[in-house]
Amino acid sequence: AELYGVPYWSSGYFRVNDEGKLEVDLPGGLSIVLEEVIEELVARGKSMPIILRFPQVLAERVKSLSEAFRKAIKEYDYQGKYQGVFPIKVNQRRVVVETIAKAGYSYHTGLEAGSKAELALCLAQNIHPEALLCCNGFKDDGFVSLALWGRKLGKNVVITLEKMSELDRVLRLSKELNVKPAVGVRFKLNAKGSGQWEESGGDNAKFGLNAAELLHVVERLREEDMLDALSMIHCHIGSQITDIRRIKVAVREATNVYANLVKAGVPVKYLNVGGGLGVDYDGSKTTFYASMNYTMAEYAADVVYTIQEVCQRMEVQEPIIVSESGRALTAHHSVLVIPVLDVTGPTVDQPFIPDRKEDQHQIVTDLEQLSENITVRNAREVYNDAVADKETMNNLFNLGYLSLHDRARGEALFNGIIRKIAKAVQDMKYVPDELEDLPRVLADKYVCNFSLFQSLPDNWAIDTLFPIIPIHRLDERPTREATLVDITCDSDGKIDKFIDLRDVKRTLPLHVPDGKPYYLGIFLAGAYQDVLGSGHNLFGKVNEAHVVADKEEGYRIELFVRGQKARRMIENMGYEEDDLRDSIEAQIETARKKGHFTQSEAKELGTTYTEELLGYTYLE
Ligand code: PLP
Repeated sequence: AELYGVPYWSSGYFRVNDEGKLEVDLPGGLSIVLEEVIEELVARGKSMPIILRFPQVLAERVKSLSEAFRKAIKEYDYQGKYQGVFPIKVNQRRVVVETIAKAGYSYHTGLEAGSKAELALCLAQNIHPEALLCCNGFKDDGFVSLALWGRKLGKNVVITLEKMSELDRVLRLSKELNVKPAVGVRFKLNAKGSGQWEESGGDNAKFGLNAAELLHVVERLREEDMLDALSMIHCHIGSQITDIRRIKVAVREATNVYANLVKAGVPVKYLNVGGGLGVDYDGSKTTFYASMNYTMAEYAADVVYTIQEVCQRMEVQEPIIVSESGRALTAHHSVLVIPVLDVTGPTVDQPFIPDRKEDQHQIVTDLEQLSENITVRNAREVYNDAVADKETMNNLFNLGYLSLHDRARGEALFNGIIRKIAKAVQDMKYVPDELEDLPRVLADKYVCNFSLFQSLPDNWAIDTLFPIIPIHRLDERPTREATLVDITCDSDGKIDKFIDLRDVKRTLPLHVPDGKPYYLGIFLAGAYQDVLGSGHNLFGKVNEAHVVADKEEGYRIELFVRGQKARRMIENMGYEEDDLRDSIEAQIETARKKGHFTQSEAKELGTTYTEELLGYTYLE
């Protein structure tokens, strides 16, 4: 558990049990051993990779956040309340949205839509009548009308103005539909976040109104005698804010905006501090981009305290606090389980060393001599010489001065040398700079049945780190160092950066596969990954199982959702299944006429083709 940092990043939801198996832990002593669920799914004929979703973890996150605010509100005797809003863009999967809506009902947790389609989805959800339905993002008439109809339905819909021109649209349509709007203004804070999404805040931010524009909105509403329509001040300085100080600075600025408006007679009701509550992916509790230097409880306490401090100083009523946390609510609830298919690499392959030939090239003889005498003392020198010799060898080959036989012998000798050096490095007190990269050079490649682009797009696009660990054999010390490669035909489809408490690790310690299935779990990937994933190489959405812990049964697979079939992926690209079949049938007919296909072969190909169209896109 320590080796993979489980106690540090798991927030108490995951644990390695006494049998070395990873389990999900839930309040009330409930737990689920991941391996058992996977074995049951495999026995039922379900194919890997599979996402295991744990709705109870999701519900627990919703509860924890609301309770953290309740506690802080009580502690500081804050005069307003807290209402969370889930921005569904973070994960629109049905089980996610419905679980959050249900778990958050009594806390008046609302939803946030950033597009027309998202609003259509949100309007159909069962949330508390007081819960907010915030409409962010750029809007057209359709978006605004739908939002206004939502108010008429009795939902607490707030239309957040992201740019000035949206005000006229809202005023015009609200008159047309005879609905009184509730408007929020996203304010362009001067404050910036920290971490990968720093540019979401600051003066150059894509969204929001500046101070002059905000005052213009106030004046327009005053002219229309609709000042009370301005009900929310909203800000968002980026996702995954690593440093709590940045949050405090932003909240202070936003509260000053709110307080100034209230003092000027605008009855603003809600102060929305946006998203940004982080996830400690590496467990280091630092301001490193994969971490955060605060807890959920500290976040809630600091937001409440800062708002109160400003309000007391400015002598204005304390607002209802809204936050739009998405990542922090959803990241923990799912685990992607991927099987290791194969292992390749310098420590696995037993290289066949071609025989020494009489007329062997001198460069190969040099490598031979280097390989004979490697000690802790000379390891660095030998390494540098061997790397130089290998480069020379490549040049000689390209110029036609080295035979393929000599090249093969030279490469095998080189691999042997670095393996011996790696052994020597283990006995060194101080590892010279040149040799620090050696574990990576020597790392094995574990080929895993998944697509990075479909399942972990943020790792590929922006280097987001996720905890990855075997879900079993954790009572055995792993003996290999590895990087992971996926099954796409893209060399970018690899993972070679892993979480570490002090740094980023370039390799992952793994076990030698022992003939039985060896599964890795990818954790904390429940936010953004499900919805940003793409169908590179036509690998589609993966199978998923919704698993619930149960006192009597241990666990229950509530629902199995099939991943996308090949046919769906192909049709997404504009093809029709019938056209594909027609084309294959025509080709079979031509081949049959030429005598290349018998009747039964034609039938067999037809069956295979259908099976593949209806099949899972991953290796089975
Ligand atoms: N609110 C807005 C306006 C956003 O743009 C985002 C995402 O960046 C969020 C909320 C969700 O942020 P997070 O997932 O960091 O909680």
